[in-house]
Amino acid sequence: MLVHAYAAPAATEPLVPTTIERRDVGPHDVLIKIEYAGVCHSDIHTVNGDWGPQPFPLVPGHEIVGIVERTGAEVTRHRAGDRVGVGCMVNSCGRCANCRGGDEQHCSEGMVPTYAGTDRDGTTTQGGYSTHIVVDAGFVLSIPEGLDAAAAAPLLCAGITTYAPLRRWGAGPGKKVAVVGLGGLGHVAVKIAHAMGAEVTVLSQSLKKQEDGLRLGADHYYATSDPGTFTDLAGRFDVIISTVSVDVDVNAYLNLLALDGALVNVGAPPGPLTIGHAFLLTQPRRVLTGSMIGGVALTQEMLGFCAEHGIGADIEIISGDQINDAYRRVLASDVRYRFVIDAATLA
Ligand code: NAP
Ligand code: ZN
Repeated sequence: MLVHAYAAPAATEPLVPTTIERRDVGPHDVLIKIEYAGVCHSDIHTVNGDWGPQPFPLVPGHEIVGIVERTGAEVTRHRAGDRVGVGCMVNSCGRCANCRGGDEQHCSEGMVPTYAGTDRDGTTTQGGYSTHIVVDAGFVLSIPEGLDAAAAAPLLCAGITTYAPLRRWGAGPGKKVAVVGLGGLGHVAVKIAHAMGAEVTVLSQSLKKQEDGLRLGADHYYATSDPGTFTDLAGRFDVIISTVSVDVDVNAYLNLLALDGALVNVGAPPGPLTIGHAFLLTQPRRVLTGSMIGGVALTQEMLGFCAEHGIGADIEIISGDQINDAYRRVLASDVRYRFVIDAATLA
């Protein structure tokens, strides 16, 4: 089936309208008519070659919400007419210990990313900046009633990427959580950490978005451009989630952790993360770790949590011809707080 999409023809080139082929609906597949696709900073890293060579032409997009049009004969979980979502992966081996443990994103054979990956049939995956997608039913999430379709789309990546480490590292009542960077991931992290009951602090480059940060659920807001921030907050936090998309000095943030606190890096900047000295991890004892999206079951749990707490992303809906401008604005930290493409404008 030939469908409309927006693709990057080559690295760093602007995206252009195109058509791509979607595979026939197999017995385990779901055909989804896409309603909305979020613009994640990872799409921009990928297109810009920050993460190495990619298969071009490339259709990005891994924050997908739409309506099921058709299902394969073996599919029981989803039916035509259901509202569903697809995140950053569309397949995995399903047999290894990590897959069986619910960490399909860490499949030992390699999970299949939603775009720029090699699917199990050998074809290159193409993402959600498109009118339709065909996905194995095991990687199709149910969107709970009550979540707005457009505001839910970013939850499929930004939501699970922040929910997973907040849950794992115990964000909740009595815990002090800091979120570094108030962008797509960061603003969802603030909402989720607040809903989990934690005391939330935003660490942003400036105080420009302070009012928004407090409205989103933060209790405190500091500018990282002010050196006083790093002395005032030394030893303060139980959990710090860094969503920064550029190379970042993790040492400054390690110093803000309390005993046994964890600095979780979820940003994916191109350069190395360098630890200045072992004492930063030992005096006091601290954890430096990372996190990548989350498994299928945890993603479904996150969607339920967000529906229960009325959490969606704060979004600006754009049409296909505004994607390149949206990329420029994300790179300039001028996003409030996620661009979401209306897929109806791609045809
Ligand atoms: P985003 O909307 O662009 O947010 C990134 C934030 O980083 C910005 O809003 C900005 O916050 C801060 N920032 C940007 N430039 C900075 C600079 N020069 N110095 C300090 N801070 C700066 O991007 P996103 O979509 O949230 O993604 C964030 C990162 O997470 C990207 O690298 C992305 O690839 C990665 N990611 C990882 C996963 C995963 O599974 N681990 C999943 C999705 C995305 P302030 O303006 O508030 O300072
Ligand atoms: Zn993403």
